[in-house]
Amino acid sequence: MKTFSLRSLQLLLVAACSTALLPGQALAWGAQGHRLVARIADPLLDPQAKAEIQHLLAAEPGATLDSIAPWADQLRAQDPSLGKRSASWHYINMGEDDCVYVQPTQCPDGKCVVEALKTQSALLADRSNTNAARLQALKFVVHLMGDIHQPMHAGYGHDRGGNTHQLQFDGRGTNLHSLWDSGMFYAQGRNDEQFLQQLLALPAPAGVSRPDLQGDAPHWAVESCHIAMRPGVYPDTRKLDEQYADTWRPVAEAQVRLAGERLAVLLNQLLDRP
Ligand SMILES: [Zn+2]
Repeated sequence: MKTFSLRSLQLLLVAACSTALLPGQALAWGAQGHRLVARIADPLLDPQAKAEIQHLLAAEPGATLDSIAPWADQLRAQDPSLGKRSASWHYINMGEDDCVYVQPTQCPDGKCVVEALKTQSALLADRSNTNAARLQALKFVVHLMGDIHQPMHAGYGHDRGGNTHQLQFDGRGTNLHSLWDSGMFYAQGRNDEQFLQQLLALPAPAGVSRPDLQGDAPHWAVESCHIAMRPGVYPDTRKLDEQYADTWRPVAEAQVRLAGERLAVLLNQLLDRP
């Protein structure tokens, strides 16, 4: 009996630790990807939007659009209550529904990236809100624009956006979500500036005309979901080599750049003087 209890306790501890260590579906693009989204947007902001962002950021000396971009992924440690409340705002599961957005079933109570982006955008745009509330909304908008363009954040629910799809890449254990977040990028060993220059050198996003830069949150999530469903994104093998990254890194990079360009358009709209 004693042995059984000890074994049960061990199993419980192992289960608890595994849960705590599981990479959350909330994480996306890695901090670098999020910073790059903001850095692409920054020079595309019009003077009114730029001034308004400076005004809001002034509450946190030293803060910049790119320094606040990863904030929402750090909330679990910094502000557990808000982190818990906003955990599901970073993604939406649409893969099982053929990438058709069905708000009542996929996003009840508005707790998904599509509706959170809309809500936080409205909070930011409303000048009757306090500066503190608008700054927090700005942080969410900058972050969630990145997340909604990460294909694994609009994919299947059954594997938590690829989080439970275990893989080996470069001889190391990882999962499909993590690989799309950062694994394919970090293998390149680029600092932010090098990464930015490479993104800016990309041709304009394929098939995206200027009006498409506007769009709206459901449209952006549906696009991401369609990428996640492309043949080969879920590889045939669990042991991946550079060939997988060579194929899909350009797709992921185009999404980072598109997220940045669309973020600028969105912020210009939200922060235009009435
Ligand atoms: Zn996130």
